[in-house]
Amino acid sequence: MDGAIDVLTGMVRVFVPDGGACYECTLSAADWAILDQRRACSLLPRDSRPAEPHVPTTPTTASVIGGLQCGEAVKLLHGIEGLRNAGFHMDGQGFDCYKVTYRRDPECYGHDRFEDVHEWEAFSCETPLEAFMEEVRTRFGPEAVIESVRELVREIRCPGCGTSEGWRGALEALDSESATCPSCGATRYPEVYHALSRGGAPAGTTLRELGIPPWDILQLKVGGRLMGIELSGDRPRFHA
Ligand SMILES: [Zn+2]
Ligand SMILES: [Zn+2]
Repeated sequence: MDGAIDVLTGMVRVFVPDGGACYECTLSAADWAILDQRRACSLLPRDSRPAEPHVPTTPTTASVIGGLQCGEAVKLLHGIEGLRNAGFHMDGQGFDCYKVTYRRDPECYGHDRFEDVHEWEAFSCETPLEAFMEEVRTRFGPEAVIESVRELVREIRCPGCGTSEGWRGALEALDSESATCPSCGATRYPEVYHALSRGGAPAGTTLRELGIPPWDILQLKVGGRLMGIELSGDRPRFHA
């Protein structure tokens, strides 16, 4: 359920995973270009990004859109017909309101689904990479590929003096201090990866040290099948 406001304009959209359009189906080439820019920006240290222009939040627009979102949630819970893979657009200035329906894009990247999620109780983010990969290999064979949906960093490189340094963690944890080259002061750039591999880190390195958070679900690809592996050993941290 998506809500968006821009001063006096607002929009509510509901996407139900039933084979209709999804959120990503509605993204245009221009939207992807903006997303790519943001992605490029995320390679820069978080705290050195330029401040984004401010957009005022209008309490009346936020109230109306928030209220409509709650109404749509209640309809879904009670099985009452409402917005379904469609949106409602409100212009709070001239009060032109209309409904938008979306077409499913067969080329959309958003339709991949896990056919199954395996709950691995004996594994958590504190499990060493080697032990985890060994279990994957034992259960699914040597062709199994494990990927994180997060961007993980293994190294940061300096374009100024050409040096590089091992750095381990999720991209979002990279701050400007680590990104600044200690030799020449230039901004260094991270080398990111998604696929985990045996021997991809020194012995004993845990999944958490690679940047995998607690109770995460890792993607498992084997023979054209896509499944999930949940680090269920972390569940007690969240459920007393
Ligand atoms: Zn889609
Ligand atoms: Zn340098």
